[in-house]
Order: sequence, then C-alpha cells, then structure tokens
Amino acid sequence: MNRIFLILCFCVNLLIAQQTKFVDFKKIETVLAFNQMKVDSTVFNSYEIKFDILKQTDSIYLDAIGMKFLNVALNEVSVKYKNDGKKLVIYNDFKASASHTLNFLFFASPKKAMYFIGWDNDSRNQIWTQGQGKNTSHWLPSIDDMNDKIEFDISCVAPKGYQVISNGKMVSKRETSIHNLWEFDMENPMSSYLVALVVGNYDKKVTFSKRGIPLEMYYYPEDSLKFEPTYRYSKRMFDFLEEEIGVPYPWQNYKQVPVKDFLYAGMENTSTTIFADSFVTDSIAFVDKNYVNVNAHELAHQWFGDLVTETSGTHHWLQEGFATYYALLAERDIFGDDYYYWRLYEYAQELLEQDKAGGSTSLLNPKSSSTTFYKKGTWVLHILREKVGDGAFKKGVKNYLLKHQFKNVETENFIIEVEKASGVDLSEFVKTWLEDEKYLYEDCISSLKQNSKEISRMFALDQELMFSSHSLEYSVDRYWGKAIGSKVKAHLFSRDEINIVHDSIIRKGLNSNDLKVRQAIAQNLTKIPSELKSEYESLLNDKSYITIEAALFNLWKNFPQDRQKYLDKTKNIQGFSDKNVRTLWLALNLVSPDFEDKNIRNIYKELTDYTSPKYGFEIRQNAFQYLNQIQACNDGCKENLKQATKHHNWRFSKFAKELIKAN
Ligand SMILES: [Zn+2]
Repeated sequence: MNRIFLILCFCVNLLIAQQTKFVDFKKIETVLAFNQMKVDSTVFNSYEIKFDILKQTDSIYLDAIGMKFLNVALNEVSVKYKNDGKKLVIYNDFKASASHTLNFLFFASPKKAMYFIGWDNDSRNQIWTQGQGKNTSHWLPSIDDMNDKIEFDISCVAPKGYQVISNGKMVSKRETSIHNLWEFDMENPMSSYLVALVVGNYDKKVTFSKRGIPLEMYYYPEDSLKFEPTYRYSKRMFDFLEEEIGVPYPWQNYKQVPVKDFLYAGMENTSTTIFADSFVTDSIAFVDKNYVNVNAHELAHQWFGDLVTETSGTHHWLQEGFATYYALLAERDIFGDDYYYWRLYEYAQELLEQDKAGGSTSLLNPKSSSTTFYKKGTWVLHILREKVGDGAFKKGVKNYLLKHQFKNVETENFIIEVEKASGVDLSEFVKTWLEDEKYLYEDCISSLKQNSKEISRMFALDQELMFSSHSLEYSVDRYWGKAIGSKVKAHLFSRDEINIVHDSIIRKGLNSNDLKVRQAIAQNLTKIPSELKSEYESLLNDKSYITIEAALFNLWKNFPQDRQKYLDKTKNIQGFSDKNVRTLWLALNLVSPDFEDKNIRNIYKELTDYTSPKYGFEIRQNAFQYLNQIQACNDGCKENLKQATKHHNWRFSKFAKELIKAN
C-alpha cells in the first residue's frame, strides 16, 4: 500500500511539475468582498494575475475549486476557457518569453480553507483562512503546487468596525459609510499555501524590532490584560532569531493574530501568523501553558518554510525540524540551558515511545509522523551542530538561506552548504540520521548526559533507586537530598514513582515552595494520607490552574466532609481559556448532594450553556465531558453535541461522534 501511494504521488508530481516548466506566475492582485458573512458564505472578487510564458504551450491553468467565473479576459480580450470545478484552464497560443495579464471576476463558497466563525450564532464574528493541508484554491484561484512562488497583493472589503489582516504591508484603508476597503502589498513572492486573511474585531499594539521591523500583535478588545503574558518575549525572540539565523527577517512586517476554533496551534502564513486563541493567557496560565514556543516556532518558519520552501513532502523536515529547533534555541536564550536540554530529553523520550511502537521512519519519508518531522528533525540539527561546531553550522545555514531565498529547496541544498562551511564530509551522517529508519536513542542520551548536569544526575539517581542494595526509604531520601532543579525533584513524584515515595518526602515536596514539584504531587497523589491533609489543601493557593484543578478534585474525593469548604474557596476561579477549573467546579457542585445552594439551577444552566457554539471548542469539550460523566446532558446539550459532530475542527468533531457512540 505504501508503494502504490508513492507511485501515485510521483505521477501527480510530474503533472504538476510540468506546468512550472511552461509558465511562471508572477503577481496576483485581487479585491475580495463577502456576500453575507454567514456559514455558507460566498466570497467574490475581481482578480488579476500576471505571468510569463517560459515555453510554448496551448493552455495554462489556475487551481480553483468549485468556483464560478465571469468576464474572463486575457490581455483585456475575452478568451476561451474551461472551468472543470477544480481548475480554470485558459486556452491560447502562448509563445515563449511573452508576458500576459489575465483578468476575471470569480465567486466561491469555500467549504474549507476559509472559515466563517460565529456569524450564525451572534458570538465572536470572524473570518479566517488556513492554506496548508487545505489548499488556498478553495477561496482564491491560485497554484496548489508549492513550487511556483507568486507575489500576492490582497485587498478586502469588510464592514466598518472589523479589522482586516492579510500578508504584507497595509498600504491604504479607504472608508465609505458602511464598508472599508483594506489594501495590502507584498514585495516578494511566496507559495500559495501561505496566503492569509483574517476579518474580525481586534485591537492591536505595535512594537519595533531592533532593525525597525514593525511587530503587530492583535488581541480581542476585552483581553487587554492578557496582552502582556500572551505576547511575552515576542520582541526578544524576534531579535534573537535574526541574530542567530544570520539573515535579516525577509518580509515587510510581522503580524500575529489569535482566532477562535483554529485547526492547529499556529500557522506561519507569510508575515501573518494566525494562532489559536486558546493561547491567549493570563499570567497564572502562563506558568503552565503559554504561547512562547508556538510564537517562536511560527516566527522561525518565516525563514524556514516561507523564505525557502520544500519542493515536496520528502523534505518536510526542512520546515518543521528547523522551526522546532530554532524555537527551542529562542527559548534557551530566555529560559536557559537546563530548559533546553530538558525539552530535548522530552523529545528523545517521545521518539523512543514511537520507536517502541514500531513507528520509526526515515526523516526523508514524506509519510513520517509529526513526531519524526518536528522532534527527530530537531535532534538531527542539534547533533549536526555538535559535529561541525557552532561557527560552521551557522555559516552553512546562512549561506543555504541566502542562496535559495524566495525559492524551493531540498535536503541536499542544506547539506552541501554545511559541508562547504565545515569541510566535513557528511555522507555518513546523512545516511545514519536522515535516511535510516533507525532511531539512535543512545546517541541522543549520551549527548544529553555530556551537556546537562541535571539530566545526567537524574539518570544516576534513577539507577540508584532501581538497583541500590540499601532500603527503598534510604534511596528515596538520598534521591531527594541529591536532586537539583525542580524537574529532577518533580520526577520523583511522577505517576510511576510516587507510590514508592514515603510520606515524609511528600511532605518535604509540599513544603518546598516549588510550583512544579507541588504540581506533580497534586496530579499524581490521588489518595491523600490524612496526616498530609493540611499541606495538601495549601495546593489550592498555588498560582497554577493545573495544580488547582487536580487538587480540587482530589480533595473533594478524599474528604467528603469538607467539600463545601473546597468549593467555596475556588468559586471565583475560571482557569485556562478552556475554563478547566470553572467547568470542574460546576460539575462538582452538581454532584455534591449536601451542598445546599439555591443557585443549583443556575449552575446547571451555566455548565449546559458552555456546550453551545458561542464558546470555543475547548470549553465545549470540557462541558460535554462533565455533563456526560454526571449523566446530565439534556436536550439542549444533546442538540449542541449533534451539531459539534459537524464542526470544522476534526479533533472536536471526532470527540463529539465518539461521545455519541459511547452512549
Ligand atoms: Zn511548523
């Protein structure tokens, strides 16, 4: 089956590759407008594309899915064309080295790649796009093949009161009494999957990088207090990556926009990163779940992916491996070496789990998992840098980017530049780390042990725990005494280890004032010894929503006589943007029989209300789960669950389908 797939891919690639030999699309100018901003909304446009013919041909095409066309004209004269529902084919006797302009009006009702959020239920009204994996050609005639890079200048008409955000620089905003026309300009070309458009209600703050690039950060007007923790370190990481990569940021400005019910964590559209609004956090949430890594990852893609783009999925690690690696370097600059090595350790463990399950593949296999592309890709770059040294590595990366900027790349293009910069023959390295399926766990761990005292100590202490001839109590005490850093300490209270730890050490952990150590205890000590009750109760005061959620649940379960006290203490806490604490609190109230609250009806109404499409899918998922657990999903909730099975986010719709099936 694998082979058949590869052969199919190869044929399709050949067909696509053919058009790039005949024509080079240069520039698209379009004015987008919306008919009704509703679920099956239509987008319609005037459209102009300029192109050069490279080789004589009788036709050219644009990808355009399910669209209608009017007034199709080549060089201002109407022209013969065919619309087969997937492509717009233009017939003409095209001669080599000639330039042309094609114009038309088009109408699209995109089912994918452009999403209309909230217009039918009067909540947060947004339009946003996602071109990777979905094809921009669902809403904009373009070229699905990544190998033809085009300069896109998008304009958009939107009702007053809405912000429009698209690639490049906003050059003008023309106002009428009802609408505004927003015009954007790009100076350089990009692949079609990186085109982006967002329409929504936003405020923004602008800061400038060291070199003067405007960094525009958007947020919902009601989230002004969350602005700082959400965008913390943005400028610092931007300046760091420019310095580290050695090539100036390639675009006119950099925008970041949160959207509701996004498909992924973030998407690196050229100069316009879109990210899930669940990453909009307050300063308590920041401790456990923040935007920093996604922020750095999408920013790194502006070079690795947007400036140089893979020719095909075979070289996908050139985008995801690089973005993950450089994000980690940006975080290392902020959080330090220990953080960096711990993340590498976690990646190594995830790769080991995949390997044990038989999932290891070559990094150059286009069907590899995300774990392989992102995390093995990161490890390959880490090991390569150790092998050739900092200077040669950085020089190689810089030359690779400069040589291929605004073009497409393959793995060899990168390797050649590192070989040139270092004078090291990398053929053996390429074979073992890139081509081979085998995952070299031991090599990763020995690199970590050499570089990180903390990690090598953890391995030594683990060995002692397992094989020491002393009593378990003695060994655990020794572990605690010798452990440095909260990660190693927290490791002692992990799910696998906590059962061997005696109460006096757990008490030391609870008294340690270390947020992450205390969190590990809250999450993993589910049966609370009564001698530790008061120490455990203090977890409800921690500035961590993960800790509070776990502690509230465990206390509620272990000490029924004090339920009222625990619920009173946590009644004003919402938690993360998915309301993890609030939804738990509501559910616990509903099943606390001795809890005499006259508001029980309101509590039930609030939890049920969270299942409605007005809320982000993360909140809805929590509400569905709790209502299902306490068997209180009423007709309104069931209706919302049915509706959720058709949600555009496949993880959420899958969740809803499975929940229905399980009942
Ligand atoms: Zn990525």
